[in-house]
Amino acid sequence: MNNNDLAELLFPEINETIEDLEKRFPKRDLPSGALVTRFAPSPTGFLHTGSLFTSLIAHKFAKDTKGLFYIRLEDTDTKREIEGSGVDLLRQLKEFEIIPSEGYLGDHEEGNYGPYKQSERASIYKTVIKQLVRDGKAYPCFCSQKDLEDLRSEQEKNKVTPGYYGEYAKCRNISVDEAIERIKNGEPYVIRFRSSGNHNNKVKVHDLIRGDLELSENNQDIVILKSDGLPTYHFAHAVDDHFMRTNCVTRGEEWLSSLPIHIELFNTLGFELPMYAHLPVIMKLDNGNRRKLSKRKDDEAAVSFFLKDGYPFEALIEYLLTIANSNFEEWKAENRDKSNDEFKLSFEKMSLDGALFDIMKLKFISKELLSRMNKVEITNRALNWAKVYDEKLLDLISRDKDYFVSIMNIEREKENPRKDYEKFSDMFNAIKFFYEDYYLELMNNELPFNPFISKDVFKNLLKEFSDTLDLALDEQAWFNSLKELGTKYGFAESNKIYKQNKDMYIGHVGDVAELLRITLTSSKQSPNLYYVLQILGKDKIAKRIDYVINDKL
Ligand code: GLU
Repeated sequence: MNNNDLAELLFPEINETIEDLEKRFPKRDLPSGALVTRFAPSPTGFLHTGSLFTSLIAHKFAKDTKGLFYIRLEDTDTKREIEGSGVDLLRQLKEFEIIPSEGYLGDHEEGNYGPYKQSERASIYKTVIKQLVRDGKAYPCFCSQKDLEDLRSEQEKNKVTPGYYGEYAKCRNISVDEAIERIKNGEPYVIRFRSSGNHNNKVKVHDLIRGDLELSENNQDIVILKSDGLPTYHFAHAVDDHFMRTNCVTRGEEWLSSLPIHIELFNTLGFELPMYAHLPVIMKLDNGNRRKLSKRKDDEAAVSFFLKDGYPFEALIEYLLTIANSNFEEWKAENRDKSNDEFKLSFEKMSLDGALFDIMKLKFISKELLSRMNKVEITNRALNWAKVYDEKLLDLISRDKDYFVSIMNIEREKENPRKDYEKFSDMFNAIKFFYEDYYLELMNNELPFNPFISKDVFKNLLKEFSDTLDLALDEQAWFNSLKELGTKYGFAESNKIYKQNKDMYIGHVGDVAELLRITLTSSKQSPNLYYVLQILGKDKIAKRIDYVINDKL
Protein backbone atom coordinates (compact mmCIF):
# COMPACT_ATOMS: atom_id res chain seq x y z
CA MET A 1 0.00 0.00 0.00
CA ASN A 2 1.23 3.49 -0.74
CA ASN A 3 0.20 7.11 -0.35
CA ASN A 4 -1.96 6.87 -3.42
CA ASP A 5 -4.02 4.14 -1.83
CA LEU A 6 -4.31 6.19 1.32
CA ALA A 7 -5.44 9.24 -0.66
CA GLU A 8 -8.09 7.16 -2.48
CA LEU A 9 -9.33 5.66 0.75
CA LEU A 10 -9.62 9.10 2.36
CA PHE A 11 -11.26 10.87 -0.57
CA PRO A 12 -12.83 8.34 -2.93
CA GLU A 13 -15.38 10.90 -4.13
CA ILE A 14 -12.74 13.39 -5.31
CA ASN A 15 -11.95 13.15 -9.02
CA GLU A 16 -10.84 16.70 -9.74
CA THR A 17 -7.17 17.67 -9.57
CA ILE A 18 -5.38 20.84 -8.58
CA GLU A 19 -4.78 21.51 -12.29
CA ASP A 20 -8.53 21.31 -12.87
CA LEU A 21 -9.05 23.90 -10.15
CA GLU A 22 -6.40 26.15 -11.67
CA LYS A 23 -8.38 26.05 -14.91
CA ARG A 24 -11.76 26.47 -13.24
CA PHE A 25 -10.54 29.57 -11.40
CA PRO A 26 -8.25 31.30 -13.87
CA LYS A 27 -6.13 34.34 -13.06
CA ARG A 28 -8.24 37.48 -13.06
CA ASP A 29 -7.98 39.75 -16.00
CA LEU A 30 -7.30 43.07 -14.30
CA PRO A 31 -4.96 45.97 -15.08
CA SER A 32 -1.58 45.84 -13.43
CA GLY A 33 -1.58 47.27 -9.94
CA ALA A 34 -5.24 46.42 -9.41
CA LEU A 35 -5.69 44.90 -5.97
CA VAL A 36 -8.02 42.01 -5.37
CA THR A 37 -8.99 42.20 -1.72
CA ARG A 38 -11.56 40.56 0.44
CA PHE A 39 -13.37 40.65 3.73
CA ALA A 40 -13.69 37.22 5.26
CA PRO A 41 -15.98 37.35 8.27
CA SER A 42 -17.01 34.41 10.39
CA PRO A 43 -20.74 34.37 11.04
CA THR A 44 -20.28 34.30 14.78
CA GLY A 45 -22.06 37.47 15.82
CA PHE A 46 -22.46 41.14 15.08
CA LEU A 47 -20.26 43.29 12.87
CA HIS A 48 -17.36 44.34 15.07
CA THR A 49 -15.99 47.87 14.76
CA GLY A 50 -12.58 46.34 14.04
CA SER A 51 -14.10 44.30 11.20
CA LEU A 52 -15.73 47.39 9.76
CA PHE A 53 -12.28 48.96 9.81
CA THR A 54 -10.62 46.05 7.99
CA SER A 55 -13.40 45.75 5.42
CA LEU A 56 -13.40 49.50 4.82
CA ILE A 57 -9.70 49.37 4.09
CA ALA A 58 -9.89 46.30 1.87
CA HIS A 59 -12.79 47.86 -0.03
CA LYS A 60 -11.03 51.19 -0.44
CA PHE A 61 -7.75 49.76 -1.69
CA ALA A 62 -9.61 47.73 -4.29
CA LYS A 63 -11.54 50.83 -5.36
CA ASP A 64 -8.47 53.09 -5.38
CA THR A 65 -6.58 50.67 -7.62
CA LYS A 66 -9.53 49.76 -9.86
CA GLY A 67 -9.34 46.26 -8.51
CA LEU A 68 -12.02 44.16 -6.91
CA PHE A 69 -13.36 43.55 -3.43
CA TYR A 70 -15.30 40.44 -2.53
CA ILE A 71 -16.71 38.71 0.49
CA ARG A 72 -16.06 35.19 1.64
CA LEU A 73 -17.98 33.70 4.51
CA GLU A 74 -15.67 31.76 6.81
CA ASP A 75 -18.24 29.48 8.34
CA THR A 76 -16.15 26.44 9.17
CA ASP A 77 -16.50 26.80 12.91
CA THR A 78 -19.98 25.36 13.04
CA LYS A 79 -20.03 25.36 16.85
CA ARG A 80 -19.59 29.12 17.10
CA GLU A 81 -21.88 30.00 14.23
CA ILE A 82 -24.86 32.20 15.05
CA GLU A 83 -27.73 31.71 12.69
CA GLY A 84 -28.53 34.63 10.48
CA SER A 85 -25.41 36.57 11.38
CA GLY A 86 -23.94 36.21 7.87
CA VAL A 87 -26.94 37.99 6.40
CA ASP A 88 -26.81 40.61 9.17
CA LEU A 89 -23.13 41.29 8.52
CA LEU A 90 -23.85 41.98 4.88
CA ARG A 91 -26.79 44.23 5.70
CA GLN A 92 -24.66 46.27 8.06
CA LEU A 93 -21.81 46.59 5.60
CA LYS A 94 -24.31 47.89 3.10
CA GLU A 95 -25.42 50.55 5.57
CA PHE A 96 -21.84 51.80 5.43
CA GLU A 97 -21.86 51.67 1.66
CA ILE A 98 -19.27 48.92 1.61
CA ILE A 99 -20.61 47.04 -1.34
CA PRO A 100 -18.67 44.04 -2.62
CA SER A 101 -18.54 43.43 -6.35
CA GLU A 102 -18.50 39.71 -5.85
CA GLY A 103 -18.85 36.94 -3.35
CA TYR A 104 -21.21 36.00 -0.58
CA LEU A 105 -23.90 38.65 -0.58
CA GLY A 106 -26.19 37.41 2.17
CA ASP A 107 -29.12 35.95 0.30
CA HIS A 108 -27.17 34.99 -2.81
CA GLU A 109 -23.71 34.83 -4.34
CA GLU A 110 -22.19 36.51 -7.34
CA GLY A 111 -18.98 35.79 -9.21
CA ASN A 112 -17.08 32.98 -10.91
CA TYR A 113 -14.78 32.10 -8.06
CA GLY A 114 -17.30 30.58 -5.70
CA PRO A 115 -18.81 29.05 -3.81
CA TYR A 116 -17.92 31.84 -1.41
CA LYS A 117 -19.13 30.08 1.71
CA GLN A 118 -16.38 27.86 3.04
CA SER A 119 -18.84 25.23 4.21
CA GLU A 120 -19.75 24.70 0.55
CA ARG A 121 -16.16 24.34 -0.61
CA ALA A 122 -15.35 21.01 1.04
CA SER A 123 -14.66 19.28 -2.27
CA ILE A 124 -12.17 22.00 -3.25
CA TYR A 125 -10.23 21.63 -0.02
CA LYS A 126 -10.33 17.87 -0.32
CA THR A 127 -9.01 18.01 -3.88
CA VAL A 128 -5.96 19.88 -2.64
CA ILE A 129 -5.51 17.67 0.41
CA LYS A 130 -5.82 14.52 -1.67
CA GLN A 131 -2.80 15.67 -3.65
CA LEU A 132 -0.89 16.53 -0.47
CA VAL A 133 -1.58 13.03 0.87
CA ARG A 134 -0.40 11.47 -2.42
CA ASP A 135 2.80 13.50 -2.12
CA GLY A 136 3.28 12.47 1.51
CA LYS A 137 2.84 16.07 2.65
CA ALA A 138 -0.28 15.43 4.66
CA TYR A 139 -1.29 12.52 6.83
CA PRO A 140 -4.15 11.31 8.98
CA CYS A 141 -3.72 11.83 12.71
CA PHE A 142 -5.62 9.66 15.15
CA CYS A 143 -4.64 11.45 18.35
CA SER A 144 -7.54 11.90 20.72
CA GLN A 145 -8.16 14.98 22.85
CA LYS A 146 -6.60 13.05 25.72
CA ASP A 147 -3.48 12.20 23.68
CA LEU A 148 -3.04 15.89 22.88
CA GLU A 149 -3.47 16.89 26.51
CA ASP A 150 -0.86 14.33 27.57
CA LEU A 151 1.47 15.66 24.91
CA ARG A 152 1.05 19.16 26.24
CA SER A 153 1.82 18.10 29.81
CA GLU A 154 4.90 16.25 28.65
CA GLN A 155 6.09 19.32 26.77
CA GLU A 156 5.44 21.53 29.77
CA LYS A 157 7.46 19.14 31.90
CA ASN A 158 10.31 19.11 29.37
CA LYS A 159 10.04 22.90 29.02
CA VAL A 160 9.84 22.74 25.24
CA THR A 161 7.65 24.63 22.79
CA PRO A 162 4.16 23.17 22.85
CA GLY A 163 2.56 21.80 19.73
CA TYR A 164 2.46 18.96 17.26
CA TYR A 165 5.85 18.88 15.62
CA GLY A 166 9.00 16.84 15.06
CA GLU A 167 9.38 13.96 17.48
CA TYR A 168 6.16 15.01 19.28
CA ALA A 169 4.12 14.53 16.12
CA LYS A 170 3.10 11.00 17.06
CA CYS A 171 1.14 10.14 13.95
CA ARG A 172 3.48 11.56 11.33
CA ASN A 173 5.48 8.31 11.21
CA ILE A 174 2.61 5.86 11.22
CA SER A 175 3.00 3.57 8.22
CA VAL A 176 0.57 3.83 5.36
CA ASP A 177 -0.60 0.28 6.03
CA GLU A 178 -1.36 1.04 9.65
CA ALA A 179 -3.14 4.29 8.75
CA ILE A 180 -5.28 2.48 6.18
CA GLU A 181 -6.18 -0.21 8.65
CA ARG A 182 -7.13 2.27 11.39
CA ILE A 183 -9.30 4.24 8.99
CA LYS A 184 -10.97 1.07 7.83
CA ASN A 185 -11.62 0.22 11.48
CA GLY A 186 -13.55 3.46 11.78
CA GLU A 187 -11.10 5.31 14.03
CA PRO A 188 -11.75 9.05 13.99
CA TYR A 189 -9.00 11.18 12.50
CA VAL A 190 -8.04 14.61 11.30
CA ILE A 191 -5.62 15.42 8.50
CA ARG A 192 -2.40 17.19 9.37
CA PHE A 193 0.08 18.99 7.19
CA ARG A 194 3.60 17.54 7.30
CA SER A 195 5.82 20.53 7.96
CA SER A 196 9.39 20.48 6.74
CA GLY A 197 10.25 23.74 8.49
CA ASN A 198 12.78 24.33 11.21
CA HIS A 199 11.94 26.76 13.98
CA ASN A 200 15.57 27.91 14.12
CA ASN A 201 15.52 29.06 10.51
CA LYS A 202 14.19 32.42 9.47
CA VAL A 203 11.85 33.15 6.64
CA LYS A 204 11.76 36.57 5.02
CA VAL A 205 8.50 38.22 4.11
CA HIS A 206 7.36 41.70 3.23
CA ASP A 207 4.33 43.23 4.90
CA LEU A 208 2.90 46.26 3.14
CA ILE A 209 2.48 48.08 6.44
CA ARG A 210 5.28 46.65 8.55
CA GLY A 211 7.96 46.37 5.88
CA ASP A 212 10.49 43.52 5.62
CA LEU A 213 10.11 40.96 8.35
CA GLU A 214 12.12 37.94 9.39
CA LEU A 215 10.05 35.32 11.13
CA SER A 216 10.88 31.90 12.47
CA GLU A 217 9.89 29.13 10.10
CA ASN A 218 6.85 27.08 10.90
CA ASN A 219 7.56 23.58 12.14
CA GLN A 220 4.10 22.61 13.36
CA ASP A 221 2.14 19.83 11.69
CA ILE A 222 -1.04 21.84 11.84
CA VAL A 223 -4.47 20.33 11.33
CA ILE A 224 -5.71 21.18 7.88
CA LEU A 225 -8.91 19.13 7.80
CA LYS A 226 -10.98 18.65 10.92
CA SER A 227 -12.89 15.49 11.72
CA ASP A 228 -16.10 17.17 10.53
CA GLY A 229 -14.63 17.34 7.02
CA LEU A 230 -14.11 21.09 7.09
CA PRO A 231 -10.75 22.86 6.90
CA THR A 232 -9.05 25.01 9.50
CA TYR A 233 -8.54 28.74 8.93
CA HIS A 234 -4.88 28.37 7.89
CA PHE A 235 -5.53 25.88 5.16
CA ALA A 236 -8.71 27.50 3.91
CA HIS A 237 -6.90 30.81 3.74
CA ALA A 238 -4.23 29.38 1.44
CA VAL A 239 -6.65 27.53 -0.80
CA ASP A 240 -9.32 30.20 -0.98
CA ASP A 241 -7.11 33.21 -1.41
CA HIS A 242 -5.23 31.35 -4.11
CA PHE A 243 -8.23 30.10 -6.07
CA MET A 244 -10.23 33.27 -5.55
CA ARG A 245 -7.16 35.05 -6.86
CA THR A 246 -6.76 37.47 -3.99
CA ASN A 247 -3.51 39.32 -4.51
CA CYS A 248 -3.60 41.42 -1.36
CA VAL A 249 -4.64 39.99 1.98
CA THR A 250 -5.62 42.72 4.43
CA ARG A 251 -6.39 41.32 7.84
CA GLY A 252 -5.98 42.06 11.53
CA GLU A 253 -2.50 42.01 12.98
CA GLU A 254 -3.48 39.10 15.20
CA TRP A 255 -2.79 36.90 12.16
CA LEU A 256 0.81 38.03 11.79
CA SER A 257 2.09 35.33 14.12
CA SER A 258 0.63 32.59 11.93
CA LEU A 259 2.10 34.00 8.75
CA PRO A 260 4.98 31.45 8.74
CA ILE A 261 2.38 28.66 8.58
CA HIS A 262 0.75 30.35 5.63
CA ILE A 263 4.04 30.89 3.86
CA GLU A 264 4.91 27.22 4.20
CA LEU A 265 1.48 26.16 2.95
CA PHE A 266 1.64 28.43 -0.10
CA ASN A 267 5.17 27.26 -0.90
CA THR A 268 4.35 23.60 -0.51
CA LEU A 269 1.29 23.92 -2.69
CA GLY A 270 3.25 25.85 -5.30
CA PHE A 271 0.88 28.81 -4.97
CA GLU A 272 2.15 32.33 -5.42
CA LEU A 273 2.17 34.16 -2.09
CA PRO A 274 -0.24 37.11 -2.06
CA MET A 275 0.80 40.48 -0.68
CA TYR A 276 -0.03 40.89 2.99
CA ALA A 277 -1.02 43.93 5.01
CA HIS A 278 -1.59 43.26 8.70
CA LEU A 279 -3.78 46.07 9.92
CA PRO A 280 -3.60 47.71 13.33
CA VAL A 281 -6.15 46.59 15.85
CA ILE A 282 -8.50 49.13 17.40
CA MET A 283 -7.75 49.62 21.05
CA LYS A 284 -9.32 51.32 24.00
CA LEU A 285 -7.89 52.99 27.09
CA ASP A 286 -9.09 51.18 30.17
CA ASN A 287 -7.85 52.61 33.47
CA GLY A 288 -4.76 53.87 31.73
CA ASN A 289 -4.05 50.58 29.97
CA ARG A 290 -4.46 49.93 26.28
CA ARG A 291 -6.48 46.92 25.34
CA LYS A 292 -8.37 45.60 22.33
CA LEU A 293 -11.97 46.71 21.96
CA SER A 294 -13.84 43.85 23.50
CA LYS A 295 -17.09 42.34 22.29
CA ARG A 296 -18.15 41.63 25.83
CA LYS A 297 -17.08 44.80 27.61
CA ASP A 298 -17.48 47.65 25.14
CA ASP A 299 -20.66 48.88 23.53
CA GLU A 300 -18.63 50.60 20.85
CA ALA A 301 -17.17 47.26 19.74
CA ALA A 302 -20.40 46.60 17.85
CA VAL A 303 -21.10 48.66 14.80
CA SER A 304 -24.82 48.40 15.59
CA PHE A 305 -24.23 50.61 18.63
CA PHE A 306 -23.39 53.57 16.40
CA LEU A 307 -26.26 52.92 14.04
CA LYS A 308 -28.72 52.64 16.89
CA ASP A 309 -27.44 55.78 18.54
CA GLY A 310 -27.92 57.57 15.24
CA TYR A 311 -24.45 58.51 14.13
CA PRO A 312 -24.60 59.04 10.39
CA PHE A 313 -22.67 56.18 8.83
CA GLU A 314 -20.32 58.63 7.09
CA ALA A 315 -19.11 59.85 10.48
CA LEU A 316 -17.84 56.43 11.46
CA ILE A 317 -16.26 55.93 8.04
CA GLU A 318 -14.56 59.30 8.21
CA TYR A 319 -13.40 58.57 11.72
CA LEU A 320 -12.00 55.17 10.74
CA LEU A 321 -10.16 56.76 7.83
CA THR A 322 -8.50 59.18 10.24
CA ILE A 323 -7.31 56.14 12.17
CA ALA A 324 -6.16 54.45 8.97
CA ASN A 325 -4.00 57.21 7.52
CA SER A 326 -2.48 60.02 9.53
CA ASN A 327 -2.82 62.50 6.64
CA PHE A 328 -6.52 61.89 6.04
CA GLU A 329 -7.75 64.35 8.64
CA GLU A 330 -5.85 67.25 7.13
CA TRP A 331 -6.95 66.29 3.63
CA LYS A 332 -10.56 66.15 4.75
CA ALA A 333 -10.36 69.54 6.46
CA GLU A 334 -9.14 71.02 3.20
CA ASN A 335 -11.52 69.06 1.00
CA ARG A 336 -14.79 69.07 2.89
CA ASP A 337 -16.85 68.86 -0.25
CA LYS A 338 -14.92 66.08 -1.94
CA SER A 339 -15.86 62.46 -1.69
CA ASN A 340 -13.54 60.21 0.33
CA ASP A 341 -13.04 58.31 -2.90
CA GLU A 342 -10.71 61.08 -3.97
CA PHE A 343 -8.38 60.43 -1.07
CA LYS A 344 -5.82 57.77 -1.91
CA LEU A 345 -5.22 55.50 1.01
CA SER A 346 -1.66 54.32 1.46
CA PHE A 347 -0.16 51.38 3.31
CA GLU A 348 2.95 53.37 4.21
CA LYS A 349 0.93 55.90 6.20
CA MET A 350 -0.89 53.25 8.16
CA SER A 351 -0.09 53.31 11.85
CA LEU A 352 1.70 50.33 13.29
CA ASP A 353 0.38 50.42 16.79
CA GLY A 354 -3.19 49.70 17.56
CA ALA A 355 -5.19 52.89 17.21
CA LEU A 356 -7.08 54.15 20.22
CA PHE A 357 -10.78 54.50 19.70
CA ASP A 358 -11.69 58.08 20.50
CA ILE A 359 -15.43 58.58 20.78
CA MET A 360 -15.02 62.33 21.31
CA LYS A 361 -13.42 62.63 17.93
CA LEU A 362 -16.17 60.62 16.34
CA LYS A 363 -18.71 62.95 17.94
CA PHE A 364 -16.88 65.96 16.64
CA ILE A 365 -16.85 64.54 13.11
CA SER A 366 -20.47 63.56 13.35
CA LYS A 367 -21.58 67.03 14.49
CA GLU A 368 -19.71 68.57 11.65
CA LEU A 369 -21.24 66.20 9.11
CA LEU A 370 -24.77 66.65 10.38
CA SER A 371 -24.40 70.41 10.35
CA ARG A 372 -23.40 70.32 6.69
CA MET A 373 -26.37 68.34 5.43
CA ASN A 374 -29.03 70.46 3.82
CA LYS A 375 -32.44 70.68 5.45
CA VAL A 376 -34.08 68.09 3.20
CA GLU A 377 -31.20 65.67 3.46
CA ILE A 378 -31.07 65.81 7.25
CA THR A 379 -34.84 65.42 7.43
CA ASN A 380 -34.82 62.35 5.25
CA ARG A 381 -31.90 60.84 7.07
CA ALA A 382 -33.56 61.49 10.44
CA LEU A 383 -36.76 59.98 9.10
CA ASN A 384 -35.04 56.83 7.90
CA TRP A 385 -33.26 56.48 11.18
CA ALA A 386 -36.41 57.14 13.22
CA LYS A 387 -38.32 54.49 11.26
CA VAL A 388 -36.01 51.87 12.70
CA TYR A 389 -34.94 53.28 16.03
CA ASP A 390 -37.14 56.06 17.39
CA GLU A 391 -40.94 55.92 17.30
CA LYS A 392 -41.37 59.26 19.01
CA LEU A 393 -39.20 61.12 16.56
CA LEU A 394 -40.95 59.34 13.72
CA ASP A 395 -44.27 60.55 15.08
CA LEU A 396 -43.07 64.17 15.18
CA ILE A 397 -41.74 64.06 11.64
CA SER A 398 -44.90 62.40 10.36
CA ARG A 399 -47.21 64.97 11.94
CA ASP A 400 -46.02 67.66 9.55
CA LYS A 401 -42.90 67.13 7.49
CA ASP A 402 -42.61 70.75 6.37
CA TYR A 403 -42.74 71.92 9.97
CA PHE A 404 -39.94 69.51 10.83
CA VAL A 405 -37.92 70.68 7.83
CA SER A 406 -38.23 74.26 9.02
CA ILE A 407 -36.97 73.23 12.46
CA MET A 408 -34.04 71.46 10.84
CA ASN A 409 -33.34 74.55 8.81
CA ILE A 410 -32.47 76.71 11.81
CA GLU A 411 -29.13 78.29 10.93
CA ARG A 412 -28.38 75.61 8.38
CA GLU A 413 -27.28 75.91 4.75
CA LYS A 414 -24.87 78.74 5.53
CA GLU A 415 -21.15 79.10 5.86
CA ASN A 416 -20.92 78.33 9.55
CA PRO A 417 -23.94 76.20 10.23
CA ARG A 418 -25.15 75.53 13.75
CA LYS A 419 -23.92 72.32 15.25
CA ASP A 420 -26.93 71.25 17.24
CA TYR A 421 -26.85 67.52 16.85
CA GLU A 422 -24.22 64.93 17.42
CA LYS A 423 -26.46 62.11 16.32
CA PHE A 424 -30.05 61.54 15.32
CA SER A 425 -30.91 60.36 18.81
CA ASP A 426 -30.30 63.90 20.09
CA MET A 427 -33.08 65.31 17.99
CA PHE A 428 -36.22 64.36 19.79
CA ASN A 429 -35.31 66.02 23.07
CA ALA A 430 -33.83 69.04 21.38
CA ILE A 431 -36.87 69.87 19.31
CA LYS A 432 -39.91 68.48 21.08
CA PHE A 433 -40.76 71.90 22.55
CA PHE A 434 -41.89 72.94 19.08
CA TYR A 435 -44.88 70.61 19.47
CA GLU A 436 -47.76 71.67 21.73
CA ASP A 437 -48.29 68.42 23.62
CA TYR A 438 -44.62 68.07 24.49
CA TYR A 439 -44.35 71.78 25.22
CA LEU A 440 -47.10 71.49 27.85
CA GLU A 441 -45.42 68.43 29.30
CA LEU A 442 -42.10 70.29 29.55
CA MET A 443 -43.77 73.27 31.21
CA ASN A 444 -44.75 71.03 34.12
CA ASN A 445 -41.10 70.95 35.11
CA GLU A 446 -39.59 73.51 37.43
CA LEU A 447 -39.13 76.59 35.24
CA PRO A 448 -35.86 78.49 35.66
CA PHE A 449 -37.30 82.05 35.68
CA ASN A 450 -34.98 84.64 37.20
CA PRO A 451 -36.22 84.95 40.81
CA PHE A 452 -34.78 88.44 41.26
CA ILE A 453 -37.09 90.05 38.76
CA SER A 454 -40.68 90.79 39.64
CA LYS A 455 -43.33 88.58 38.11
CA ASP A 456 -45.40 91.65 37.28
CA VAL A 457 -42.60 93.07 35.18
CA PHE A 458 -42.37 89.76 33.37
CA LYS A 459 -46.10 89.56 32.80
CA ASN A 460 -46.40 93.08 31.42
CA LEU A 461 -43.35 92.69 29.26
CA LEU A 462 -44.56 89.43 27.82
CA LYS A 463 -47.97 90.86 27.11
CA GLU A 464 -46.55 93.80 25.25
CA PHE A 465 -44.10 91.56 23.40
CA SER A 466 -46.98 89.40 22.22
CA ASP A 467 -49.13 92.35 21.21
CA THR A 468 -46.43 94.14 19.25
CA LEU A 469 -44.51 91.23 17.72
CA ASP A 470 -43.70 91.74 14.07
CA LEU A 471 -42.38 88.56 12.50
CA ALA A 472 -41.63 90.30 9.22
CA LEU A 473 -38.61 92.06 10.74
CA ASP A 474 -35.19 90.69 9.94
CA GLU A 475 -33.10 89.29 12.76
CA GLN A 476 -31.22 92.50 13.51
CA ALA A 477 -34.30 94.72 13.41
CA TRP A 478 -36.18 92.29 15.58
CA PHE A 479 -33.39 92.25 18.14
CA ASN A 480 -33.34 96.04 18.19
CA SER A 481 -37.07 96.06 18.88
CA LEU A 482 -36.47 93.62 21.72
CA LYS A 483 -33.89 95.97 23.20
CA GLU A 484 -36.32 98.85 22.97
CA LEU A 485 -39.03 96.88 24.67
CA GLY A 486 -36.60 95.87 27.40
CA THR A 487 -35.51 99.45 27.99
CA LYS A 488 -39.13 100.44 28.57
CA TYR A 489 -39.29 97.97 31.44
CA GLY A 490 -35.95 98.91 32.97
CA PHE A 491 -33.55 96.50 31.22
CA ALA A 492 -30.23 97.78 29.85
CA GLU A 493 -29.59 97.39 26.13
CA SER A 494 -26.57 95.23 26.75
CA ASN A 495 -24.77 93.39 29.47
CA LYS A 496 -21.92 95.90 29.22
CA ILE A 497 -24.12 98.90 29.92
CA TYR A 498 -25.82 97.01 32.71
CA LYS A 499 -22.51 96.22 34.39
CA GLN A 500 -21.41 99.86 34.28
CA ASN A 501 -24.54 101.01 36.03
CA LYS A 502 -26.18 98.17 37.83
CA ASP A 503 -28.26 100.44 40.08
CA MET A 504 -30.09 101.98 37.15
CA TYR A 505 -31.45 98.73 35.69
CA ILE A 506 -33.24 95.60 36.79
CA GLY A 507 -31.32 93.53 34.26
CA HIS A 508 -30.29 93.58 30.61
CA VAL A 509 -31.56 92.43 27.24
CA GLY A 510 -30.16 88.95 27.87
CA ASP A 511 -32.62 88.58 30.74
CA VAL A 512 -35.44 89.55 28.43
CA ALA A 513 -34.36 86.95 25.89
CA GLU A 514 -34.08 84.39 28.66
CA LEU A 515 -37.60 85.12 29.82
CA LEU A 516 -38.87 84.58 26.29
CA ARG A 517 -36.90 81.40 25.88
CA ILE A 518 -38.29 79.88 29.04
CA THR A 519 -41.77 81.01 28.12
CA LEU A 520 -41.65 79.52 24.66
CA THR A 521 -39.41 76.50 25.13
CA SER A 522 -39.33 75.78 28.90
CA SER A 523 -35.56 76.01 28.96
CA LYS A 524 -32.78 78.57 29.08
CA GLN A 525 -31.13 76.83 26.15
CA SER A 526 -32.71 76.77 22.77
CA PRO A 527 -31.75 77.32 19.19
CA ASN A 528 -31.58 80.95 18.04
CA LEU A 529 -34.67 82.63 19.46
CA TYR A 530 -35.43 84.60 16.32
CA TYR A 531 -35.84 81.39 14.35
CA VAL A 532 -37.82 79.74 17.11
CA LEU A 533 -40.28 82.62 16.81
CA GLN A 534 -40.40 82.36 13.05
CA ILE A 535 -41.19 78.67 13.20
CA LEU A 536 -43.77 78.84 15.99
CA GLY A 537 -45.61 81.69 14.31
CA LYS A 538 -47.77 84.36 15.92
CA ASP A 539 -50.66 82.18 17.09
CA LYS A 540 -48.60 79.64 18.93
CA ILE A 541 -46.47 82.37 20.46
CA ALA A 542 -49.53 84.24 21.69
CA LYS A 543 -51.03 81.07 23.12
CA ARG A 544 -47.85 80.11 24.94
CA ILE A 545 -47.41 83.62 26.36
CA ASP A 546 -51.00 83.69 27.61
CA TYR A 547 -50.53 80.35 29.22
CA VAL A 548 -47.36 81.47 31.01
CA ILE A 549 -48.86 84.76 32.16
CA ASN A 550 -51.93 83.03 33.56
CA ASP A 551 -50.58 79.76 34.86
CA LYS A 552 -46.84 79.93 35.33
CA LEU A 553 -45.89 83.35 36.68
N1 GLU B 1 -12.31 34.72 9.37
C1 GLU B 1 -11.13 35.42 9.75
C2 GLU B 1 -11.48 36.38 10.86
O1 GLU B 1 -12.66 36.64 11.05
C3 GLU B 1 -10.58 36.16 8.57
C4 GLU B 1 -9.19 36.62 8.66
C5 GLU B 1 -8.72 37.02 7.28
O2 GLU B 1 -9.14 38.07 6.82
O3 GLU B 1 -7.99 36.25 6.67
O4 GLU B 1 -10.63 36.85 11.56
